[in-house]
Amino acid sequence: MDIHEYQTKELFRSYDIPVPDGRVAHSGKQALAVAEELNGERWVVKAQIHAGGRGKAGGVLMADNLEAVEQHADKMIGMTLVTKQTGEAGRLVQRVLVEQAHAIAQEFYLGLVIDRATQRITLIASASGGMNIEEVAATNPQKVIREAVDPAVGLQDFQSRKIAAGIGLTGKQIGQVAKMLKKLYRCFRDKDALMAEINPLVLTKDGQFLALDAKMSFDGNALYRQPEITDLRDFDEEDPKEVEASGHDLNYIALDGNVGCIVNGAGLAMATMDAISHYGGRPANFLDVGGGASPEKIANAFRIVLEDPNVMAVLINIYAGINRCDWIANGIVQAIRDLAIEVPVVVRLAGTNLEQGLQILQGSGLEYIQADHLSDAAEKAVNAVKGAES
Ligand code: GDP
Ligand code: MN
Repeated sequence: MDIHEYQTKELFRSYDIPVPDGRVAHSGKQALAVAEELNGERWVVKAQIHAGGRGKAGGVLMADNLEAVEQHADKMIGMTLVTKQTGEAGRLVQRVLVEQAHAIAQEFYLGLVIDRATQRITLIASASGGMNIEEVAATNPQKVIREAVDPAVGLQDFQSRKIAAGIGLTGKQIGQVAKMLKKLYRCFRDKDALMAEINPLVLTKDGQFLALDAKMSFDGNALYRQPEITDLRDFDEEDPKEVEASGHDLNYIALDGNVGCIVNGAGLAMATMDAISHYGGRPANFLDVGGGASPEKIANAFRIVLEDPNVMAVLINIYAGINRCDWIANGIVQAIRDLAIEVPVVVRLAGTNLEQGLQILQGSGLEYIQADHLSDAAEKAVNAVKGAES
């Protein structure tokens, strides 16, 4: 789960990680009031969306006077910001962060991620921070340094100092940044984060280190024990279908193809998506209905999949172990009746109570395409889409 920059900075403040003074605003007038309360003569107005690349897209603007703060905020709020990370559709800006501006001497990159290969929290740093870090990582990977943390002992002082020295710092600057890393690591661990990024970490012209930009994301599976993080969730930044699905205890991820998928088990869902690709089709989504799928759950799954206007066929692939084919079949029949589904539906059932399940489907008089196994189902679904297209 991602949160906004202003929320990450609030969290940083509570861990004593230095950030610029600033506050969120929902209108130009409010932005003006925030700027008036902040000390200084220059301000930064920053669009708050769950995506980076704002600087290059007009989502981070400097203001030399109070009128400019209000104007920038008015311009940003309500606009759809398209950055390298948002995709073509962009994101609606609903609020801005107004901060005191700082004169920058140097920009660095600091990140904490969970490295899946080593299964360790890993520090990443570079002296070439700022808006071009992706390019630096691609063209000059040696400029990005890493340090993996042993979970048994946690982040050691020598490691933070090594990172600080590795990005070219000397003298007491090393201690300053090492301290900051220690706090960042603590915050990361305490809050079950998956990623924390400070880009840029800046050294200001008056010699302080500040997290000028801040981004964190958290493990969705740990939210049950992180109520104060859960409160920061912004549903407007998420796909409404995914939000609805999680409310029904369905695991749904929207994709950009046209074959809707309803499958039980994440592994089978992946295999189904692969099979669709193999036959030249593209899945419209990943959807795992989980074990014990009631007829209601299947009906909800259909509804969510069909809310995607790109879906031209639905493939339902259930391997019933804990599930029962007759429950699933009842769900399918109910859904096809209630939702007046207009696209072809391919059904492949296997496992517990298969006979009863097939009887229910066949006895329903509803139209559907029956498939006997995974690749048969994928091929039939892809052909159904081709048939609908031609
Ligand atoms: P991103 O492009 O979405 O990652 O947004 P950032 O928060 O990283 O801002 C983009 C760039 O704006 C930064 O890399 C800085 O160069 C610049 N910027 C942001 N705040 C300030 C500031 O207070 N002073 C100056 N001089 N530049 C700033
Ligand atoms: Mn940034």
